[in-house]
Amino acid sequence: MLKKRAARRAASRTHRQMMDAARHVLGRHVLEDTVPHVDPAEVVALVFGRHALRITEQDAIDYLNALFAERGFPLHTTPAPAVDVVDRAGRDRARCPAAPLDDKTPYGGPHAVMVLDATNRGAEGCEHHAAQLLALLDDGHVYALPEAPEGAALRVFKAAGAARADTER
Ligand SMILES: [Zn+2]
Repeated sequence: MLKKRAARRAASRTHRQMMDAARHVLGRHVLEDTVPHVDPAEVVALVFGRHALRITEQDAIDYLNALFAERGFPLHTTPAPAVDVVDRAGRDRARCPAAPLDDKTPYGGPHAVMVLDATNRGAEGCEHHAAQLLALLDDGHVYALPEAPEGAALRVFKAAGAARADTER
C-alpha cells in the first residue's frame, strides 16, 4: 500500500519534470518563431541533462503533443519541411509576434503587453497570445506597453497562471 503510493508519487513527479522540459522547449521555439521546428530530441536531451532520465523520442512527442493539444495547435508528428515554414512565415508576417506560427486562433485585440523570458528575449502581443506564451516560459515576466488598457499585464499574468495550472493537473 505504502509502496504503491510512493510509486505513484514518483510517477507524478516524473510526469511533471517531463511536462516542464517540454514546456521549456516549446516556449523557446515560440519566442524564436520556430514552432514547426520543435524537435522531440531537444526534450529528450533536456530531460537527460536536468534529471539524468532517459526517455524515448515517442515519450517526448507525447509530452509536446499534450501542450499542443491544450493550445489547439496541430499535433507534432514529424518535423515540418523547411520550405513549408518559409512560405507560411512569408504569408503570415502580419500576425501577432507572441502567437506561435501555427496558432489559428484569431487575434485577441491590439498589442498590449511585452512578454520576456529569463534572458530578456521577448515578444509583444495581444493579451490572448501573450498569456499563452507566458504560460510556456520557466521564468517569464510580462509588462504593459504604454498604450495598454488598464490592468492588461495583470490579466495576462493571471490567465497564464490558469493555463499552467490546467496542464499540471
Ligand atoms: Zn495575438
